[in-house]
Amino acid sequence: MIGGGAAGFFCAVNAARMNRNLKVILLEKTNKLLSKVKISGGGRCNVTHALFDIIEMSKRYPRGQHFVKKTFHQFFTTDTIKWFEERGVKLKAEEDGRMFPVSDSSQTIINCLMNEANLYGVEIRMNTEVKKLKMENGEWRIGLNNNQAINADFVCIATGGYPKVAMFDWLRNLGHTISEPVPSLFTFNLPKHPITQLMGVSVEKARVKIEGTKLLEEGPVLITHWGLSGPAILRCSAWGARELQEKNYDFKAHINWLPQFNEHSLKEQFQSFRNTQSSKKVINHNFGSLPTRLWQFLLERSGVNNELRFADLSSKLENALIRNSVDYTVEVKGKTTFKEEFVTAGGINLAEVDANTMMSRKQQNLFFAGEIIDVDGITGGFNFQHAWTSGWVIAKQIASS
Ligand SMILES: Cc1cc2nc3c(=O)[nH]c(=O)nc-3n(C[C@H](O)[C@H](O)[C@H](O)COP(=O)(O)OP(=O)(O)OC[C@H]3O[C@@H](n4cnc5c(N)ncnc54)[C@H](O)[C@@H]3O)c2cc1C
Repeated sequence: MIGGGAAGFFCAVNAARMNRNLKVILLEKTNKLLSKVKISGGGRCNVTHALFDIIEMSKRYPRGQHFVKKTFHQFFTTDTIKWFEERGVKLKAEEDGRMFPVSDSSQTIINCLMNEANLYGVEIRMNTEVKKLKMENGEWRIGLNNNQAINADFVCIATGGYPKVAMFDWLRNLGHTISEPVPSLFTFNLPKHPITQLMGVSVEKARVKIEGTKLLEEGPVLITHWGLSGPAILRCSAWGARELQEKNYDFKAHINWLPQFNEHSLKEQFQSFRNTQSSKKVINHNFGSLPTRLWQFLLERSGVNNELRFADLSSKLENALIRNSVDYTVEVKGKTTFKEEFVTAGGINLAEVDANTMMSRKQQNLFFAGEIIDVDGITGGFNFQHAWTSGWVIAKQIASS
């Protein structure tokens, strides 16, 4: 197994358990194992998602939707939950469907996988980078950084997402083509935008639309020190990973802070509210459950004084406020990828991998697991589920060969 991340580890421990005659070696180039598992989900590890229908689940993958439909038939969310539970790690689902270990600590997942590796004798070699792969006399010859090489009957490549095409050269030499890697799951930068003064404010449900595209997402939006984040923004970034890169991350986003309304229906609300509660101050009623700081900000941007009552709201000011409430437009310039559940879209072309076995269609006994292939999910545990599933499918295949 090449790569000591979620996919490589899951593949290694399952292969070693399923066939005790296999000698499983895990090669990891750094001095750390499962490093992304450790930091994932804010240190809690969002292991999977509480979705139990394969078709529904597959819709959470901007790339690889049809591919995962096949792999999930072999190992699905229910299997992940059972696998960890059988090893003493109970998972719990949060309201939004994300699943975490009940300990709320990613270390629980790491301990579980490490125990499993010890139990079934997986040999782990750290600081060991694979540089080259070659088929020689029916065996894989794996060239390492220390000028050494090892031979293997089967090779599973689980090296994660590579951000640059050049990093795939050693795999392109085996006849594989690469779908260009681009970042996914990033937040939007709004340099020096006044809204960033509201950092920390979050809106439970807003609608985000990207101008000039079909990208439209509804969900929580978080205002940060540098711009906009939260699930709705991350989902736009995932579905629009390529399109937004083509725009050089320079585009306009339209935010409806009150998505239950459009311009017309919100105007009606204003009119009827004015008829019944004309003496009420505009600052004290926002037609939804917007945080006060945001409503105050929208009032300010619309030129509405904090003391103004609905009765005194001119149609000019009312229109400006309505517009800012349902179509607040920001210019996005740049993206931020740190701290979030960042992944790389792109990778090994899916047409070159058999979804039933995860084996290369170009090379016998060469397998791919995890983020290295052109599959990526939105935020919420979908990327780990793909890592577990692909690792497991390969383990089963190798163990039964
Ligand atoms: C901050 C952060 C938080 C995240 N949180 C979540 C979350 O909560 N839920 C979720 O579903 N997803 C999350 N993700 C995404 C998820 O971590 C990845 O999709 C997942 O780790 C991919 O697993 P992998 O095994 O394919 O790759 P990786 O975890 O990246 O592991 C690849 C390993 O291969 C090693 N390697 C690379 N090249 C070589 C080589 N040539 N030789 C030997 N070793 C090599 C690397 O050092 C690395 O250890 C998060 C990502 C980040 C960055």
